[in-house]
Amino acid sequence: MKKTIIAANLILILLLAGCGNIHSHSWLEANFQEPMRCPECGETLGDPLEADFSVRKISADLKENEPAEFHTVTGEEKLDTTGVFTITGSEVLTEDASHKKKNGYEWHIIRMSLSFSDENSVNDGFDYNYLISDFYDIEGFMHSFVYDRALGCNTFTVNWYGKDYPECRESSSISRGEWEKSGDGFKKTVEITWTLLLPEGYDGIVVGVRSSGIDTEGKHYIYEYYEPDAFLLYRVGGSK
Ligand SMILES: [Zn+2]
Repeated sequence: MKKTIIAANLILILLLAGCGNIHSHSWLEANFQEPMRCPECGETLGDPLEADFSVRKISADLKENEPAEFHTVTGEEKLDTTGVFTITGSEVLTEDASHKKKNGYEWHIIRMSLSFSDENSVNDGFDYNYLISDFYDIEGFMHSFVYDRALGCNTFTVNWYGKDYPECRESSSISRGEWEKSGDGFKKTVEITWTLLLPEGYDGIVVGVRSSGIDTEGKHYIYEYYEPDAFLLYRVGGSK
């Protein structure tokens, strides 16, 4: 009786070992959204790649319609001035009259506004820089970024779930208001509109402003000159 049990156990062990031999995982590399994965059985190993913004501790947590204080400098004398920065709109569309449908991609229209009314800005104007980057791959984004003469906008590549999307697009327009009477003083508002073509569901593009008071000379990448108090950044699609 005992012998049969041992024999049965042996068979079971052999079967298990045999099963393991039939399927040896063929691992796909990890990407920014997924860990290493075997496409045959779906098993995963390890973690996704860590996004540059989290490695570099760059914050992109601005929310739509939540005004934030923006610290920058005045136009000529470079005195401190504080304005208000707001993401006033963030919409996603597949296509419309002026945006052609592209399979696998979607359009994002992001609107942001900057208002100044403090004494230094009224006397000397204000300076600001606006910027775009990628939450996952700061350098890859910048290296792929190029002006496309035929399209009349910038194009770039991002990677989403392991696949490169080389047909992303970016353009922006600015409307600079005039100084207008506001209460006892004056106020000026600048509106910036971004038009972006991104992979469907992509949550990596970051737009925003930074103080013109920081020194960026000889520096290329946002992490080389990032200072938490000098930046206000919004992650497109990141709050969904
Ligand atoms: Zn497998």
